[in-house]
Amino acid sequence: MGTYLIVGGVAGGATVAARLRRNDEKSKIILFERGDYISYANCGLPYYIGNTITEREKLFVQTPESFNKRFNVDIRIKSEVTKINRDQKTVEVKNLSTGEIYKEKYDKLILSPGAAPIKPPIPGINDDRIFTLRNVPDTDKIKNFIEEKRPRRAIIVGAGFIGLEMAENLHAKGIFVTIVEMADQVMNVIDYEMAAEVHQHLKTKKVEFYLKDGVSSFIKRQDERIVVKLNSGKEILTDMVILSIGVKPENSLAKDANLKVGITGGIEVNDFLQTSDNDIYALGDAIEFTNPIINKKLVIPLAGPANKQGRIVADNIVGGNNSKYTGTIGTAIAKVFDLTVGSTGVSEKILKKENIPYLASITHSSSHAGYYPNALPLTIKLLFSPTDGKILGSQIVGYEGVDKRVDVIAMLIKCGKTIYELMEFEHSYAPPYSSAKDPVNIAAMAAENILKGKVKIVHSTDLLKMDMANTLLLDIRTTDEFSLGSIETAKNIPLDDLRNRLGELPKDKKIIVFCGVGLRAYVACRILYQNNFTEVYNLSGGYKTYEHITQKQSNEDIFEKDFIGNDDHIYQTNPNQQENVTKKIIEANACGLQCPGPIQRLKLEMEKLNPGERLKITASDQGFYPDVKAWCNVTGNILISLDESKGIITALIEKSAKLQYSQTVCAGNNKTLIVFSDDFDKALASFVIANGAASMNKKVTMFFTFWGLDVIKKAKKPKVKKDFLGSMFSGMLPNNSKKLKMSKLNMAGLGTAMMRMRMKDKNVDSLEIMIQTAISNGVELIACQMSMDMMGVKKEELIDGVRIGGVATYLEEAEKSNLNLFV
Ligand code: FAD
Repeated sequence: MGTYLIVGGVAGGATVAARLRRNDEKSKIILFERGDYISYANCGLPYYIGNTITEREKLFVQTPESFNKRFNVDIRIKSEVTKINRDQKTVEVKNLSTGEIYKEKYDKLILSPGAAPIKPPIPGINDDRIFTLRNVPDTDKIKNFIEEKRPRRAIIVGAGFIGLEMAENLHAKGIFVTIVEMADQVMNVIDYEMAAEVHQHLKTKKVEFYLKDGVSSFIKRQDERIVVKLNSGKEILTDMVILSIGVKPENSLAKDANLKVGITGGIEVNDFLQTSDNDIYALGDAIEFTNPIINKKLVIPLAGPANKQGRIVADNIVGGNNSKYTGTIGTAIAKVFDLTVGSTGVSEKILKKENIPYLASITHSSSHAGYYPNALPLTIKLLFSPTDGKILGSQIVGYEGVDKRVDVIAMLIKCGKTIYELMEFEHSYAPPYSSAKDPVNIAAMAAENILKGKVKIVHSTDLLKMDMANTLLLDIRTTDEFSLGSIETAKNIPLDDLRNRLGELPKDKKIIVFCGVGLRAYVACRILYQNNFTEVYNLSGGYKTYEHITQKQSNEDIFEKDFIGNDDHIYQTNPNQQENVTKKIIEANACGLQCPGPIQRLKLEMEKLNPGERLKITASDQGFYPDVKAWCNVTGNILISLDESKGIITALIEKSAKLQYSQTVCAGNNKTLIVFSDDFDKALASFVIANGAASMNKKVTMFFTFWGLDVIKKAKKPKVKKDFLGSMFSGMLPNNSKKLKMSKLNMAGLGTAMMRMRMKDKNVDSLEIMIQTAISNGVELIACQMSMDMMGVKKEELIDGVRIGGVATYLEEAEKSNLNLFV
């Protein structure tokens, strides 16, 4: 019978305590926990903040009382272990309620103190509106803050797993979230091409993010909000900040006791999880351990390893050192809005850094059989040894079934297996769950083709750096797919025509073949090899991966274009729509007409069509782009495609059988304001109302027309070319919001100045701050295209965040509103 002392009472500590008791009924076990709670679900904390987990009690797996009752463990909360006296085999404990310090003797000591959030010495970092998330009190603080202060805007510093989970959960609370990340990608454990998918997805969720930018300071304002200054010089106003830039092992106890601590900061342990002192074991986030793939010590702060190590430690303490820990390969998963991002093993960037030879392949498959409804895209990156095919790592991004695939690959990596075993991996299959060849089989087969030299590949990231002088890019997708976008300079020969058009291809050039995702291109490569074309390469991951990495960070939903066909292939256009192209198409030209001319023309032409027939209409008025979408939404007609090329917008619209021309989409709760005036006081009133409504969680749209455009002009404008009348209007009208005058009592500008002073004295935000607040709060600012054309106002002259739209855009919003003001 021994005395076992445990430091830390959550993932690792509580597991050790429970297993020790199950192993040894007679021992004395004391667990010290600095905080108020033990054995709770840290991984659930973001979801409790976002209200997915609604009951706080659900976070607690055990209470000190229930744990003691079940396991007869002396649980001492609010008790901090401050010192280890190794020679006396005692620890010093501070009772945080009373301040009393006492000693406790041990036979074996277990350290599971976890890791603490990193807080760099950035000016202003200790502000009470800047939070970190590690434990229940942190969670309560954040949750109470949100409930009491009703923040509209939050900045997440650091886009790791916890940062992104917090982004999602704060967004779910209706908060406008901005992520600031120093690296060029989110989720550093995955590679750039995979993160690029996450970037695009975040944009569709209207989450703003800054990459390659860090925080230089936090400055608190009088109104309690914080200005977050970035290294780039950008300043963002926010109500709260979540710092999630990583964690560092809690090693001070170990260091002070002269236990060995590695350069990673983790406590050194042997295979039995024993520290440099045989009577002290350590586990969890606080230790470093050799990663079996790169053979290098790493700290991997994850719950799974901490729990599994707990069992090993307890078994070794009671039964002697018989259980070895084999190391963690960092298998992790996170939900990022609708996406799931999983990874296991090591990434390409780590393999590169460690100079470990590898090959990589990217495959896009579907979560289940394409012919069964709702199959969704799934991207797998597989990293494997070029000599024997041993799997080194994998990353998977998708909407469904990511977890089971990551777990399968993790298991094989753990067992030192190769892509050949993954190829043969026998999975459970029925159409709702998978395909006869699971995406992981496909990934392994693609890897085998590379390994066995059946195909040579290039990666999109390398293609971007290549000298293309002696290279032909060959797009073998259908002409329809090609017409929607391809890699610049690519030649299009659809796969099915390839055999007949081989003569068009040069034999003395390198040919890089691509399709949507890489599968059809593989077929094309095989045809070419067998027709004596030798320098032929398949673009791994196809156009889809290329598009992900080359696309600008925008709100465009790249997945909108993906369709999984009955043959399980992913197409960039809906094959069903392709079948329909035989439908009758009427063409109309609305180029040259100004808003609302194009929409009126559209309506007129559509009235002539029968249901199922299509109208292809072109317009040069840029407001037509959002207008036509809005018009289709309101009327119930189907927008088949919408393209803009060299200033000409082309829309293809199918007349719906269920027309709703006069039907109101929803008598909603939104608010719309038409800002017609450029009087200072009226502009002020508009933004007061808009911000008030936005703060009550209403969707607000402000439509700036005629003189109202002066309110949203930039103070510092770029030089733009104007005609005579445009220049004249610019000269005569207020140049920006700071030049606006009161509608009454202006007194040659004195009245307006007095009003601005008075607002400052009364702590009322300036008009300029109100405008910025409105944008931050999600108020939609639309500038009237027609008024802009009339007044000669250019888009570049308007403040960032303003959308250009026509009357239909406004009317669509008005239809969803129950308040519509004309100011
Ligand atoms: P912890 O569970 O952190 O426990 C350490 C405890 O020791 C703390 O309660 C601390 O108060 C106490 N302590 C420290 N020093 C002393 C001292 N001197 N005296 C007394 N007590 C002390 N991992 C995943 O795998 N998946 C996830 O989805 C995931 N989500 C997470 C979400 C959040 C918000 C957080 C914070 C972590 C998440 N993790 C996740 C990580 C996971 O929670 C940790 O890896 C795991 O809890 C580590 O266990 P541990 O025992 O080492 O440390």
